[in-house]
Amino acid sequence: MDFTFTENQEMIRETFRRFADKELTREYVRWLDENCDYPPDDLRAKLAEIGYFGIGVPEEYGGVGSGTMEMCIVAEELATASVAVAIGMGVVYLGGTRPLSEFGSEEQKQRYLPEIVSGEKKWSFALTEPAGGTDILGAIATTARRDGDEYVISGSKIFISGAHVADYILTIAITDKEAERKNGLSVFIVDAKSEGVSVSLIPKLGIHACGTCEVHYDDVRVPAENLVGKENVGWYQLLSTLNPERIATSMLSLGIAKAAFKDALQYSKDRKAFGKPIGQFQIIQNYLADIAIEIENARNLIYKCSWLCDTGQRYDVEATMAKIVACRASEKAALMGMEILGGYGFTMEYDMQRHFRDYKQMMFSPISDEMSKNYIAQSYGLPRSY
Ligand SMILES: Cc1cc2nc3c(=O)[nH]c(=O)nc-3n(C[C@H](O)[C@H](O)[C@H](O)COP(=O)(O)OP(=O)(O)OC[C@H]3O[C@@H](n4cnc5c(N)ncnc54)[C@H](O)[C@@H]3O)c2cc1C
Repeated sequence: MDFTFTENQEMIRETFRRFADKELTREYVRWLDENCDYPPDDLRAKLAEIGYFGIGVPEEYGGVGSGTMEMCIVAEELATASVAVAIGMGVVYLGGTRPLSEFGSEEQKQRYLPEIVSGEKKWSFALTEPAGGTDILGAIATTARRDGDEYVISGSKIFISGAHVADYILTIAITDKEAERKNGLSVFIVDAKSEGVSVSLIPKLGIHACGTCEVHYDDVRVPAENLVGKENVGWYQLLSTLNPERIATSMLSLGIAKAAFKDALQYSKDRKAFGKPIGQFQIIQNYLADIAIEIENARNLIYKCSWLCDTGQRYDVEATMAKIVACRASEKAALMGMEILGGYGFTMEYDMQRHFRDYKQMMFSPISDEMSKNYIAQSYGLPRSY
């Protein structure tokens, strides 16, 4: 078994590590958290310059190809520096790059992919509805009715990351009310400026620099050519986006865990009590060792999932496990990190409070731990519990 990255993957890691060191400094990331609801245009332009948005886009549309492994390498570097930036940029991949590359028509690929690669256009991904995210097939109520050369979309979405700045919102709606739900959904490209689309930000606890929104569709007319893939098979198309999303979100949690670990480790070396650095006390060393173990564990599982995905093997169960393992690592790092920093952890002067706020979002998004465990248990032949 060979755990080494290819030369190209090492080069990608180095490029994004250098980018993160230079552009996502501690001060800048704090400023983003306090002042921004989305990564600013100049930052996005710099990311476009080093090829971020080309990852996963076929070369004929201006991209650099590459697979889930490369996306994970980049996500690890960005999320360790700023999880908000990693999410903000990641939704462009999940809402635009991946579905268009896989299921888009030739016209859609030619029209939309180059604009994504250049960093010009922003995308978001709208699946979750107010009645529930876990039971999305039971909760979804947004409809798209065919009317001549158009579809008319009506309904509401909630918790949509980056929709307030998106140029396009990839929207999932019911196109066949009579069919079993998973056989009656379709995916649409909705121009966010269309008449009838309204978006509002939802105030939230963490990951401030990537806003989350409510989106309302009030009889929004969308050209029929904006259907992505085939009508009524949207659910099956989505699964190929949602499974890589689990790998990617695991990497986001890992980034938070690594950032919290780094801060806690440094503090344990700097802070003194009883004439010694607190990192000399066995319990503090145990805290740090426990976090390090969970980080290593999560990282290995995430990269294994990327490899399974890129080599065309089944990875849905492993990706669901990775999501839980990485979330737990971020939780442990944030909680233990707060312990290690003592009172200073609770102040806004240190970044541990941000890691502590940020990790929580990843616990239930895109899938909760409870539902993840249902899925894992079922994969071993146990009956569905719900
Ligand atoms: C900040 C943020 C950003 C997000 N970004 C996006 C986005 O960009 N696009 C998008 O489409 N969605 C997005 N989401 C939505 C996210 O995917 C959902 O929040 C998630 O699917 C959970 O749905 P819910 O919040 O409605 O919780 P619910 O489904 O209401 O679940 C509530 C609780 O019940 C538990 N539960 C439900 N069913 C079961 C069961 N069968 N067994 C055991 N426990 C169960 C859950 O685990 C959870 O603990 C985002 C959410 C947040 C908070």
